[in-house]
Amino acid sequence: MSLSPAAAEFDVAVVGGGPAGSAAATTLARRGHRVVLFERDDFPRFHIGESLLAAANPSFDALGVTEKIRAAGFTEKWGATLLTHLGAEGTPVDFSQSREVPRPQTWQVCREKFDTLLLDHARESGAEVRLRQRVESAEFDGDGVTLRVAAAEGAASEVRARAMVDATGRAGLLARRFDLRYDEPQLANVAIYAHFSGVPRLPGKRAGDIRIVGREDAGWFWVIPIDEQLTSVGVVLPMAIYARLEKGSPESMLQAAVAGTPAMAALMREARREWPVRVEKDYSYGARAYVGDRWLLAGDAGSFLDPVFSSGVSIALESGIEAGRELSAALAGDDFRAARFAAFDRVQRRRYQLFRRFVTGFYTPWFRDVFFQPDAPPAIFRAVITVLAGHWRVSWRTRALLELFFLAVRVQRRFRIAEPIVRRDAVAFPDAGLPEAD
Ligand SMILES: Cc1cc2nc3c(=O)[nH]c(=O)nc-3n(C[C@H](O)[C@H](O)[C@H](O)COP(=O)(O)OP(=O)(O)OC[C@H]3O[C@@H](n4cnc5c(N)ncnc54)[C@H](O)[C@@H]3O)c2cc1C
Repeated sequence: MSLSPAAAEFDVAVVGGGPAGSAAATTLARRGHRVVLFERDDFPRFHIGESLLAAANPSFDALGVTEKIRAAGFTEKWGATLLTHLGAEGTPVDFSQSREVPRPQTWQVCREKFDTLLLDHARESGAEVRLRQRVESAEFDGDGVTLRVAAAEGAASEVRARAMVDATGRAGLLARRFDLRYDEPQLANVAIYAHFSGVPRLPGKRAGDIRIVGREDAGWFWVIPIDEQLTSVGVVLPMAIYARLEKGSPESMLQAAVAGTPAMAALMREARREWPVRVEKDYSYGARAYVGDRWLLAGDAGSFLDPVFSSGVSIALESGIEAGRELSAALAGDDFRAARFAAFDRVQRRRYQLFRRFVTGFYTPWFRDVFFQPDAPPAIFRAVITVLAGHWRVSWRTRALLELFFLAVRVQRRFRIAEPIVRRDAVAFPDAGLPEAD
């Protein structure tokens, strides 16, 4: 005689307490469902990924957390500025230039504070949040899922739910279990980063911009002002270049990278490091499936894209909300079959493919030229900005303009009509307003 599984204590178990998990748990709890969220770490905890996109605003509204975010005092961000390795500055990307971005101002966030705010909000919305509880396995059956959970103190227990959202980030609990992940070898990068004080800011409204500084050979730096004092600074290097680097301490590798790029050396002249330097692989990957019977993947647990356009957190919030809505409907209809979640699966794939096209485009100099051409067609520039603000469900007109842009990039690349501007004499561009290098 086989024992039937215990009755479900919860409607949905969410695994992972980052932005995707908090968004899914909040969405479900606000609809009156019994939700439990397991997070293996104690909060607040460090996490990289500090620059948000304007597309996060509708997600904050949907979660009912906008006022809390506003009151938290994060740095206001309106866009991005690209610089060449010599400090020549591209046309600033200001999200308010696009008519399709309804609320262009967003934030740079310290993730300890931001993720804790979102997780507290999930709890206040009615989700049961269990910290320092690692989910070790998930077994699915005809009635639900049994999670085996190990507490940090060592005790293990089992919890039953009717369905599960995997929001475990790059740990990818289910993606690994079901072998769902595929890598993007051309986006295999390594990031080396820390927080610094004493990094000069841009003037006025642009003080909160992310600055993206190209390296001469390959790779790029981010410079993100996360509060009044601290600036997050990191370098992203293709794995092939990282592998050839002399392997000193993380500190010396970051220092050498900064010293080798004149624009960064100038920016960091007075900088003081305030945090340890961390090294992290940031390989991109997609998922062969984002859904199955009684489970959905949200955020990085499904796919992860190179951070160059800061899309990770905004996508994580959006997909967490979408997962919550899907499961709420599934609970109402008592139907948790994978086929029922086909539309969710399609949306995750489409969004990933669209941002992937932009990310891979960025590594093509002819694409980057759009930021450095003094005479880039304004309509095309605005279309590009719409997607860089994270708004990927664009109008037909914007879609057509983007197709035109990608076609122009392809043609220039294929026929080498002109040497890309970013590779030509970069000093021909206006001065970046950086302090003079020694
Ligand atoms: C170098 C780098 C720079 C980046 N820069 C940016 C940026 O500027 N802007 C941006 O938007 N994004 C950026 N990102 C991406 C961003 O960090 C992620 O996309 C985002 O954090 C995804 O959120 P998430 O909720 O899916 O996953 P996470 O935030 O990673 O949360 C997953 C959570 O699950 C928990 N967990 C894992 N396994 C288990 C388990 N078995 N049981 C219980 N809990 C578990 C983890 O402890 C973690 O708290 C960057 C990423 C990298 C690597």
